[in-house]
Amino acid sequence: MKALYPGSFDPLSLGHLDIIQRAAKTFGKVTVLISANPGKKEKLSVEIRTMLIKEAVKDMANVDVQVYSGLTVEYALNNSYNFLLRGMRAAGDFESELEMSQINRALSQGLETVFLMTSPQYSFIRSSRVWELLKFGDYIEALVPKNVAKYLLENY
Ligand code: ADP
Repeated sequence: MKALYPGSFDPLSLGHLDIIQRAAKTFGKVTVLISANPGKKEKLSVEIRTMLIKEAVKDMANVDVQVYSGLTVEYALNNSYNFLLRGMRAAGDFESELEMSQINRALSQGLETVFLMTSPQYSFIRSSRVWELLKFGDYIEALVPKNVAKYLLENY
């Protein structure tokens, strides 16, 4: 079974990586799909996000990284994915994720979204917090994988 994990990953966090690692043990193949969203304010370019995620998942043989600027369900159907995969942090994520999963199911005649609940030690992590904390230096190492912290500290 193949799962597609879409998101902005701007930047990849330890919460994202935990979802990817757990999904890689559950599904035969997991693709991290970076949504290239021209309307959305992105901080890191898709090229840099791709490089950082590829580095972070390099030891997981059944995980790959792709970029797509169209509809996620279109990508999933065209490439024969069985599931969309999303992570859920807390109640605050529930409403928007419920709505998104229902829209995606309606658009795709039945493609299911599966959710993995965050691991407790990562439940407070979101990408916007990384950018806030970056102003204060290497504290971000508690929020993002080592290679991402290194890149951000060297470049921002
Ligand atoms: P989006 O921009 O679509 O919200 P994100 O890159 O922020 O995408 O996140 C992608 C997915 O990962 C979403 O399902 C989100 O809920 C989930 N996620 C983000 N942070 C965490 C975390 N700390 N623990 C578990 N899941 C997370």
